[in-house]
Amino acid sequence: MAEYGEHESSEDPLHVLRHSTAHLLAAAVTELYPDARYGIGPPVQDGFYYDFAFSKPVSESDLPAIESRMRRLAQEDRPFAQETMTREQALAEFRRRGQDYKIELIKDKVEGDEVSVYRTGDFLDLCRGPHVKSTRDLKAFKLLRVAGAYWRGDEKQPQLTRIYGTAWSTQRELEEHLKFLEEAEKRDHKKLGKELKLFTVDERVGPGLPLWLPAGATVRRELERFIVDEELARGYLHVRTPDVARLDLYRQSGHAQLYGENMYPPMRFEDGEELELRPVNCPHHIVVFQSELRSYRDLPMRIAEIGNNWRYERSGTLIGLNRVRAFALNDAHIFCTPDQLMDEVKAAIDLALYFSDVLGIDEFSYRLSARDDVKDKWLGTEEQWERAQAALIEALESMGQTYELGVGEAAFYGPKIDFQVKDAHRREFTNSTVQVDFQLPERFALEYVAEDGTRQRPVMVHRGAAGSMERLFSYLIERYVGAFPTWLHPVQVVVVPITDAQHDYARVIAERLRKLKLRVEVDDRPERMQRKIRDAQARKVPYMTIAGAREAEAGRVNVRDRAGAQTDEGLDEFAERVALEVAERRR
Ligand SMILES: [Zn+2]
Ligand SMILES: [Zn+2]
Repeated sequence: MAEYGEHESSEDPLHVLRHSTAHLLAAAVTELYPDARYGIGPPVQDGFYYDFAFSKPVSESDLPAIESRMRRLAQEDRPFAQETMTREQALAEFRRRGQDYKIELIKDKVEGDEVSVYRTGDFLDLCRGPHVKSTRDLKAFKLLRVAGAYWRGDEKQPQLTRIYGTAWSTQRELEEHLKFLEEAEKRDHKKLGKELKLFTVDERVGPGLPLWLPAGATVRRELERFIVDEELARGYLHVRTPDVARLDLYRQSGHAQLYGENMYPPMRFEDGEELELRPVNCPHHIVVFQSELRSYRDLPMRIAEIGNNWRYERSGTLIGLNRVRAFALNDAHIFCTPDQLMDEVKAAIDLALYFSDVLGIDEFSYRLSARDDVKDKWLGTEEQWERAQAALIEALESMGQTYELGVGEAAFYGPKIDFQVKDAHRREFTNSTVQVDFQLPERFALEYVAEDGTRQRPVMVHRGAAGSMERLFSYLIERYVGAFPTWLHPVQVVVVPITDAQHDYARVIAERLRKLKLRVEVDDRPERMQRKIRDAQARKVPYMTIAGAREAEAGRVNVRDRAGAQTDEGLDEFAERVALEVAERRR
């Protein structure tokens, strides 16, 4: 809303309130820092931000002073007064105030000769509104944090200081939200990833290129085994294809032309070779399909791979494991006849649902991404798009699923169904996707020999059932707050000998459990038992067995689970119980 050309105008009272609070923030900032220049200040989910250029750095420690000035201005009951100026008047007014970002916005965004501005006391902003009546209506807000942001999101432009805040209608709502933020902070996968030694990001390797540490890599191996085994059982053929290919391959697929901004620049060699890090796996799987002449008896052919993809995301958008520059996608491409399309789409949705069920992804929604009317953004004919879209809608409806429509969010080759999941901060992201494609089969002249001996063109379905390993892991870390189900946990049992005299028995226990392929550690550090128990609890290890003289004598184990329950069991009984829990992948 509000800012010229930058945001949709909205009458939603909470948006109006939040955007008005952004004005209040800018008013307070310009009083405290008279030479600060202000950029834009829209409402965002749960709050607002405003971007500033300060002459000296402003950090989070400055926020309390800014916030108290905001409160003072709020109490002064200043009205939000709209004025209409001519273009020249507005330019002169903002020039007088040294606000060159506003001048740029007037020049670029305002059409015609009338400019709408809002005055709050001395503070003047270029804005179309609407706002609350008076600063007095702003009662429940808090400034949260400071971040860097490029002017108009462009890395070639100056970096500004973005101040984020939250605003609500009542104090109670504000308090509830702050409590939620505190809880989300505890679940944050970046924080837990560090504490539990799951992954690390290092400047020397580069932002957005996480390194999986042993504990995290163990979880990933379990996830990949689970995914690949299930896909093999459902008739997928798993392949391995290289991370790079000739740039021409992506010219043929259209990615170089229509997806180029996400791709790494090509590697050019003296002999004329041009290689490209792959942003997607589709062209490779197409080449696999074309490695021999296919017949209708081969279809549907489901080619799958946990394939590494490389996409250059801007550094400001990178988030832990959730948004990265290289990721491994649980990807597959299904080549089928038009008659098989519906069943394949349904089967792909069913597989995604199965993965979600086992992994505990219990809150998600469907988004049907269609194309818009922008020219040259989409490949193929109107009719092909309609057929593809109809197939997706029919599949969802026949499975009794509801969906939201996202116009203009399709892939360039066809519409798609995305499974939207929310992280601990309620940020929505796509975890799985099913896309129907009539275009790449054309561009690569795919064919199969039909029953009547003629050559026919197959349809392609692109699908990612469990998403990327990185995103999936970030979700699971937050979902379980690090307390992964036993089958996934990096260490399933920690054996704690009470004294040195039980070290041998502790090793007997560990060997017995390892025979059943369980992941076991013996904690034989010279530490007190209570300390060892606390450490295992901090790592959220599902089971601890305490081995004392009595247990050694009787061949039994004293077991504590991470919820605090204690049992006394025979060693074999315990080993088999845990092995069964793992085999059944119980949550
Ligand atoms: Zn405004
Ligand atoms: Zn694909």
